[in-house]
Amino acid sequence: MTVGVLAFHGDFAEHLEVLRNLKVKCIEVLSLDDLKKVSHLIIPGGESTVIGKFLESTGVGAAIKKRVNKRSLAIYGTCAGAILLARTVKGKNPPKSLKLMNITIERNAYGSQMQSFQADIGVKGLAKPLPATFIRAPIILDHGSAEILAEYGGHPVLVREGRILAGTFHPEVRGQEQIHRIFLTM
Ligand code: GLN
Repeated sequence: MTVGVLAFHGDFAEHLEVLRNLKVKCIEVLSLDDLKKVSHLIIPGGESTVIGKFLESTGVGAAIKKRVNKRSLAIYGTCAGAILLARTVKGKNPPKSLKLMNITIERNAYGSQMQSFQADIGVKGLAKPLPATFIRAPIILDHGSAEILAEYGGHPVLVREGRILAGTFHPEVRGQEQIHRIFLTM
């Protein structure tokens, strides 16, 4: 298993550190060649509009879609990454998303940076609540038929559809490994 972290922009370094701590083989993904080497891909947080532009201009976005359709790639999107996976994106300046998950998400739905926060959330399969960090986070308005693995404030914050996992919070910023462990089983 080789896990790739999309490294155009955003907090990819923190994800790579979590993966290294888990002793998983991991690489930065910046090109079509890199993408060919991975069985799992993390799309990190950052600005979904910026990551979306790189996905389009490099052709990596189209290649990701093909791999997912062939069921040869598992994906975990955090925050901006989750936005880029959604079929429908609401809010100002929505990015061009990959539309790989049948969910509706609203970017910057809690407000500005001042409304970033931490909260303990219960995650399906984890024994203890996880302190979760939400940074200019989106809200999942409709999770379609995706399975809800965690909720906060009446909204899903971690959902799974097949081999795709989307979370609106950032376990990687505190070096938390639990959600990555779940992803690695997918
Ligand atoms: N607000 C960012 C966006 O819409 C996401 C923030 C994040 O990834 N922490 O793209």
